[in-house]
Amino acid sequence: MSHVLMRGRGGRVCLPDPATTMIDRADGGQLVLYPPRRVWDRTALTREELIAWHLLIAATARAMLDTLPQLAGGCLNYWDAGNWALNPAAEPVGPKDPQAARVLHQHLCGRSPHSTDRAWQWGESPFFPAYVDRFTWSAGKAPFTASECVALVERTRIVLRDDYTEVDAQGITSAPCGACGYPTPLDDLDAVTARCPACRALLLG
Ligand SMILES: [Zn+2]
Repeated sequence: MSHVLMRGRGGRVCLPDPATTMIDRADGGQLVLYPPRRVWDRTALTREELIAWHLLIAATARAMLDTLPQLAGGCLNYWDAGNWALNPAAEPVGPKDPQAARVLHQHLCGRSPHSTDRAWQWGESPFFPAYVDRFTWSAGKAPFTASECVALVERTRIVLRDDYTEVDAQGITSAPCGACGYPTPLDDLDAVTARCPACRALLLG
């Protein structure tokens, strides 16, 4: 399950799925952004959807650069690939039509000058594993902490409002989960316990 940190007119910003995390937070970290509507490629978005999504991408990117010490002197890679969903071994097994199987999403990949990950060496193109190795490749890679995410969401809202004149910050309203502390859209928090969907699922499990 991917934790949704914030959601608004431009789409939603998530932590990477723990099973397929690409970059440890200390090596630069990673966020995943989905557009406001499920489409296979950005050419399928309307003009308004495309503008809103790209403002959210840029504001989130600015927030990463502005708030994360591990990205001091670093940069970002914008990775929109969606290849594994097209692998013949992916469910449902067999050949895939990209327009049906692909789900457009944008990875924001932090590139730290001090990365110790061989796949994410500063000054080099990143290395991506084969489809069959995607889970072992992700082992031990940690997402951003809850406090890092609180700062990321707050800075994203300010950039949207002040730099991109989205006066209501695209309608983004998030607050920390009462259990894990990660920012969560207000609509997703339990009205009584203030727990996020993942923490509620843990209690049920
Ligand atoms: Zn939680």
